[in-house]
Amino acid sequence: MQTLRTVSEMQNVARELRSAGRTIAFVPTMGALHEGHLDLVRLAATKADVVVVSIFVNPTQFGPNEDFQRYPRDLEGDSAKCETAGAHYIFTPTKDELYPAGYSTFITEESVAKPLEGISRPVHFRGVTTIVAMLFNIVQPTCAIFGQKDAQQVAVIRKMVADLHLPVEIITCPTTRDHDGLALSSRNAYLTPTQRQAALAIPRTLQAIKAMAEKGERRVERLTAEATHLLADQRQIRVIYVALVDPQTMQPLRELEPGNALLAIAAWVDETRLIDNILL
Ligand code: AMP
Repeated sequence: MQTLRTVSEMQNVARELRSAGRTIAFVPTMGALHEGHLDLVRLAATKADVVVVSIFVNPTQFGPNEDFQRYPRDLEGDSAKCETAGAHYIFTPTKDELYPAGYSTFITEESVAKPLEGISRPVHFRGVTTIVAMLFNIVQPTCAIFGQKDAQQVAVIRKMVADLHLPVEIITCPTTRDHDGLALSSRNAYLTPTQRQAALAIPRTLQAIKAMAEKGERRVERLTAEATHLLADQRQIRVIYVALVDPQTMQPLRELEPGNALLAIAAWVDETRLIDNILL
């Protein structure tokens, strides 16, 4: 496995690979890798000849009061994990390499990105679409793997790729969970054991609402009210949103359509913002 740090190194490798007819599967990440990321890398290895993982804590997707500075970073640990999981290249540029002084070009998706995360994190998806489009341009992948854990992110990326006719196949990997049900996230590192116990109300709620839906409940207000009620049981949790939406458009559903509904939750567990979701 090779680690590349500059745009020109990555572009040269991508050009050589593509002109030799090799396919590239790309996994964009912000590092502090866990088994969820590694599942993406392992899936990538089954989809193309060569796997490229990017590790870059992208400043433009963090709001001014968010955790950009304290976001966990561990390049050495990440490299070892990527190699074991089957990556061939790590692309880990500096902030100045991707956003030199005077940088002024942004990509915004203006529909799917608007609700849910778009409301409480207004600059987030503008940063995500900008960095992903930029990385696609540099890495030249045939396909790219994203986690269902960030369901709105995948939907936004799919829309951007369709709208801009980008020649990249988007593949979604199911959410990887810890043994206790909590979705793996680099931000779980912020949680104390007590906060982690409280956070478990999130996956428990998703499962409880899934069970209600499976028993035939179709009324969106009933399902979301019950989810809010279950989360409210935990003193340390403050709900940001609970929403039943169309998984492609992120628009609210009037009635549950089994097989085409996403229950999405965002909540503060004390100072840590967590998101999770389930397809119903
Ligand atoms: P991040 O480093 O948090 O930006 O995530 C990089 C990629 O890993 C994104 O496509 C995420 O959706 C995905 N990812 C993060 N956590 C999980 C998880 N628990 N299961 C599956 N994919 C995940």
